[in-house]
Amino acid sequence: MKATITGGGIGGLTTAIALRQKGIEVEIFEAANEFKMAGSGITLAINAIQIYQRLGLSEKLQQAGNRLDGIQICNQKLKVLSTANISSLNKLYKVQTIAIHRATLHKILLDELKDCPIHMAKQLKTLNQQKGKINLEFEDGTKHQCDLLIGADGIHSVVRRSIFTDTVERYAKQLCWRGIADFDLGKDYHFMAREAWAPGSRIGIVPIGPNTVYWYACKTYRDSADEVKDKLSEFAATYPPFVGRLLSATKKENIIVAELGDLQPIAEWYKGNICLMGDAAHATTPNMGQGANQAIESAWVLSECLSEEKDLTKAFAKYQKMRQAKAVSVVNTSWKIGKMAQLSNPIFTSLRNTLVRMTPEYFSLKQLKNMVELKY
Ligand SMILES: Cc1cc2nc3c(=O)[nH]c(=O)nc-3n(C[C@H](O)[C@H](O)[C@H](O)COP(=O)(O)OP(=O)(O)OC[C@H]3O[C@@H](n4cnc5c(N)ncnc54)[C@H](O)[C@@H]3O)c2cc1C
Repeated sequence: MKATITGGGIGGLTTAIALRQKGIEVEIFEAANEFKMAGSGITLAINAIQIYQRLGLSEKLQQAGNRLDGIQICNQKLKVLSTANISSLNKLYKVQTIAIHRATLHKILLDELKDCPIHMAKQLKTLNQQKGKINLEFEDGTKHQCDLLIGADGIHSVVRRSIFTDTVERYAKQLCWRGIADFDLGKDYHFMAREAWAPGSRIGIVPIGPNTVYWYACKTYRDSADEVKDKLSEFAATYPPFVGRLLSATKKENIIVAELGDLQPIAEWYKGNICLMGDAAHATTPNMGQGANQAIESAWVLSECLSEEKDLTKAFAKYQKMRQAKAVSVVNTSWKIGKMAQLSNPIFTSLRNTLVRMTPEYFSLKQLKNMVELKY
């Protein structure tokens, strides 16, 4: 069996590593000309780290990333509303939740694939399935034929749109800036992630290394992202001056701006010899920091199913059965959290903050435990 994967993101690369470790040959086609050292970080929770442990990568990741012991939700003045102390979960599962530079994560994954064919600048344009074969055509006019295709080409997946015509990408009406700054948060915050909520906006502050901070700033808009896209300084002024200093410590050219959205859950993740994974199958808003974590879980389960079951339809059906409920639950819960976190009405925001303050820590930890536990 040989698998063709479109998309060399976290999902596609992790799938490739998992498949190759099970003796399945892989070829990857990636749209970008090169893997850029994007200025953004990512949190890998216990679920992802456990998968990477099975793939023999957890130690490398834990050394290259920054351990997180807790997550705090704060109000606009950065006063703590709630703390989830995740070190107890880290201990329970004997791994660490980490925050890491995306470029570092990508490099670690690519290092595992040194002898795997990865074709860059191959943006998939069209595909068709005929007599058990899949014919791919790329934007540069080149073609490729394969027997098994894994669509790991992200939320706007061409693979998904080619096999299912009625899928819906939803916009959350939030613009998100992301950046990485050299900044010392102080010793109390070297291993603590924080998210502060103001009416209609929020900021996340995540240490990814000694004096290196990944931040994300989200702002709700009414009709169009143009309303807020030049308003990062105004955004910073909503919070204590420390936020302005953090944002100013970031090189402008390294700030990434994107609209937040997700994929409305879809009923089927496969058709014929083609299967979707990661954001192509279950893109979520980032409010739970689980998009890539879920992609990594899907990568593992898909590789297991393909190595155990030679009949592709049976393998894909098993993969979907094992993964869909959890991934969809993340998508739906994250969507609701996004709405709550970005409330604009001061009365509702005050009520929400009171509720968050009163929620016992054991309740948050129980929910987190359900999220990170692997049932496969
Ligand atoms: C602001 C923000 C913060 C986030 N924070 C977190 C977090 O802390 N933790 C977490 O777990 N998740 C987080 N996520 C979600 C996470 O980034 C995604 O879920 C994850 O990157 C999905 O990986 P993927 O490989 O499925 O898709 P992608 O990362 O989108 O990769 C898809 C790849 O396919 C390529 N591609 C696209 N189209 C084509 C084509 N036509 N042909 C060939 N190649 C193509 C792309 O170039 C890309 O390399 C966040 C997302 C956002 C927006």
